[in-house]
Amino acid sequence: METIVIVGGGAGGLELATRLGNIAGAHSRVVLVDRWPGHFWKPLLHTVASGSCDPQADELSFSTQASEHGFEFIQGEMLCLDRTQQTITLSPQDGGDGACRVLGYDKLVLALGSVTSFYGVPGAQEHALTLDSVADAEAFRHRFFAACHQAGNSPVNVAIVGGGATGVELAAELSNSTRALALLQNIRITVMERGAGLLPHMDGIQAQRAERHLRSLGVAVRTATSVAAVHADAVTDSHGQRHPAQLTLWAAGVQAPPLCARLGLSVNHQQKILVDAGLRSFSDARIYALGDCANYVCPVKGAAPPRAQVAHQQAMFLAGALAGASDGEAPALFHYHDYGSLISLGPQAAVGVLTRAGSGL
Ligand SMILES: Cc1cc2nc3c(=O)[nH]c(=O)nc-3n(C[C@H](O)[C@H](O)[C@H](O)COP(=O)(O)OP(=O)(O)OC[C@H]3O[C@@H](n4cnc5c(N)ncnc54)[C@H](O)[C@@H]3O)c2cc1C
Repeated sequence: METIVIVGGGAGGLELATRLGNIAGAHSRVVLVDRWPGHFWKPLLHTVASGSCDPQADELSFSTQASEHGFEFIQGEMLCLDRTQQTITLSPQDGGDGACRVLGYDKLVLALGSVTSFYGVPGAQEHALTLDSVADAEAFRHRFFAACHQAGNSPVNVAIVGGGATGVELAAELSNSTRALALLQNIRITVMERGAGLLPHMDGIQAQRAERHLRSLGVAVRTATSVAAVHADAVTDSHGQRHPAQLTLWAAGVQAPPLCARLGLSVNHQQKILVDAGLRSFSDARIYALGDCANYVCPVKGAAPPRAQVAHQQAMFLAGALAGASDGEAPALFHYHDYGSLISLGPQAAVGVLTRAGSGL
């Protein structure tokens, strides 16, 4: 019986394990590995950070999903890969001091997601908070309310570095969810974006609408502003101006997790695993990658963006390809369709563009 191991139960990996378990669970062993016991939908992390969502209530248990959809779940962190033996090494059971576990595979799918990229900006890694996981979002929430408590009558300054989807959504959500608190305290949220406008990957009209909406919520928007350094209590921009900030949230870009660069597979400058149109690693035909950790480049339209809809479409594609693959058959080719995107600006507003049929990439 063939063993297909999927590492990472995020937007792409969980969907792949579920679909593959449903289709192929009877004649293949499908195993999902994740470092956490449950799945939380990453695009909602800004609502956890602002305190408007309880992650425990919205988490999906991997074990329950596995038992209902014909796959196995193993909780653990992938530490390394042995391509000759076709094994991966996982952290000890329950995170204890025991021996590391070794898991064999016939086919391996890496769906490891992404982590924040600090671009080497001094102090950013040490002082800025991130939104890479539920733990990060909860840490932001705790720090925010602690800062409000400590500030007393003084202002609470929050700097959000990066005016892309994550930064804009967090600014709007934080402003909305702290409205009652803001009556008692002076909460100042500033979004800093080095480009000429917010949401650089979106249509200019939508970006301007988002900026107007944030300003109407009282959020300060500083475009054409590069952050040169982050300190414990401030950020300094490239003109040397110091902006006070008890909290700095870094949302200025992502890269693949450092593990990707240690696996001996070909990666790009963001450590993303290079894959062909069948989502196979350039370095090993038994290894696939999808979602944020993969670098799939369409010869016509370029690299697929790090978005949940890419991870979802790649999971659908791989479920069909891995379940139906037979020796000697020409491999299926992945095509990404961009169905547009929506940026949430709190509970009652959003900007975005939806395309009906999607534009093929
Ligand atoms: C605040 C925010 C808002 C967003 N909004 C949108 C949006 O509106 N639309 C959109 O399309 N996209 C959005 N995104 C991006 C979207 O969340 C990602 O593109 C998507 O989650 C990528 O899916 P993935 O499966 O590649 O990785 P992820 O969903 O990040 O999952 C990766 C999984 O791998 C696991 N993992 C990582 N390393 C290991 C290891 N070594 N061992 C075991 N497990 C490991 C992690 O625990 C995690 O479960 C947003 C992201 C954020 C942070």
